[in-house]
Amino acid sequence: MAVPEYKLPEEFKLKCDRVIPERYKHMVLTNRQRPNIPACNIKTVPGDMTERGCAFAGCRGVVGGPIGDCIQVVHAPAGCAWYQWGTRRNLSKIYAWAGPGKLCNDSHNRRRAITTDLQERDVVFGGMEKLKKACLEAWRLIPGAAGILIFTTCTSGLIGDDCKAVAKEVEKELEKKEGRPIPVFVFDSPGLCRVSQSTGHHHFNVQFYEQMVEWRKEHPEFCMKEEEKTPYDVAIIGDFNMDWDLAYIKPLFEKIGCRVVAVFTGGERLYNLLKIPDVKLNILHCQRSCTYISDLIKKGYEIPYINVSFFGIEQTAKALRDTAKFFGSKEMMEKAEQVIEEEIKAITPALNFYREKLRGKKIGLYVGGPRVWHWQKVMQELGMKVVFGMCTFAHEDDYEKINKRAEDGVFLVDNPNEFEIEECLEKFKPDLFLTGLKEKYLARKLGVPTVNSHSYEKGPYACFRGFINFARDIYQGIYAPVWKFVKDKDFA
Ligand code: SF4
Repeated sequence: MAVPEYKLPEEFKLKCDRVIPERYKHMVLTNRQRPNIPACNIKTVPGDMTERGCAFAGCRGVVGGPIGDCIQVVHAPAGCAWYQWGTRRNLSKIYAWAGPGKLCNDSHNRRRAITTDLQERDVVFGGMEKLKKACLEAWRLIPGAAGILIFTTCTSGLIGDDCKAVAKEVEKELEKKEGRPIPVFVFDSPGLCRVSQSTGHHHFNVQFYEQMVEWRKEHPEFCMKEEEKTPYDVAIIGDFNMDWDLAYIKPLFEKIGCRVVAVFTGGERLYNLLKIPDVKLNILHCQRSCTYISDLIKKGYEIPYINVSFFGIEQTAKALRDTAKFFGSKEMMEKAEQVIEEEIKAITPALNFYREKLRGKKIGLYVGGPRVWHWQKVMQELGMKVVFGMCTFAHEDDYEKINKRAEDGVFLVDNPNEFEIEECLEKFKPDLFLTGLKEKYLARKLGVPTVNSHSYEKGPYACFRGFINFARDIYQGIYAPVWKFVKDKDFA
């Protein structure tokens, strides 16, 4: 869809952007009737200190990283791999290799950063041998893993190492050693390959799909057997188990009679992911990072998907109702209504308290993309007002959804930089800023409380009960006694 011509009102032109006026095309005011779409998913203007991550960060950090039982080897200088270590709270309880004499730990995917640590010598002479050695060494240390995932970055991409050839060699050696096939998949998404982490989401989806299809053809024993299938097998696509969100999401679907075969990719096992083409329905949560694989599975295996949101009451209830409607089961529809009623009843006392405390408070929202539209409804359900929204890597369809769900006139900034964030905080004076790890310090220095919108404070935030945790953290943020000192004019 072409970006409609849009003229940002003068009073909304941020002062900090006078030196980079190209940035104004990245800003709009929302309009429900005629959505205003800012310039988005394009290269960052040179000189603009973007907050974006690279494609590799999206590929490994967001979509691939949550897989819980694989060795993940980053073929790169150690710097690329550093940030995967213990930061994003995509949790997992998987420790397939736990046992006497074996390494065991939960959240292996977050606790270990495995990298080939490429050096100048490898750049000159190639790093393939080093990659093979690293994979085999990692397997020796973690022998119970389900497979190996290799990620390339700018350096390995530029020197042109044939990582797929290495993966095949490692697969052969491991099969010989273990007496069973071990998947070794490669994900090519060097940071420099396009504009933001969103490219990396896309790459992981497509490359996982292709390797899954090939693996299932070569090893049909990894597919679900007919006798194991049930009529209500589903997969949840695009949920990364942030701070245990899945502990609330999965039971709701199980209560209405579905069997959750796999989650792409939160805390999941590789063997379950290989069974996604055997389910009856894909339930798609993050529609920015995982629509790609949902489309591919729909095309390749004729498995439909539905778009859902698990945030807030109305959206979670709709997700359950839409699932029941898809299966056309009267029993499931009744169970869905029963579950919704029970959950709402359980949260009502707490919800009334938080609504009372939060009504009319102003929120600034800054996330990667989809949560700016997922959370419009959540804020409305709490009686709060979103005064500005910012997205790091949203595409046009995200902005269309934001326009439709937000009040008219909400200021949107695509791919904001630090100066813009600071000016928006001063201009719109939110009572709380929902933002990530890096930007929270800036907001707090300005006396604006924050809640971690990426990995949460004390999650889960998904579904009915998670909604209360979310409301509690917002409440505790706004009402924390410390802010009265910071906002005191005499305090300086
Ligand atoms: S931009 Fe390239 S060098 Fe930097 S972290 Fe990403 S992959 Fe590594």
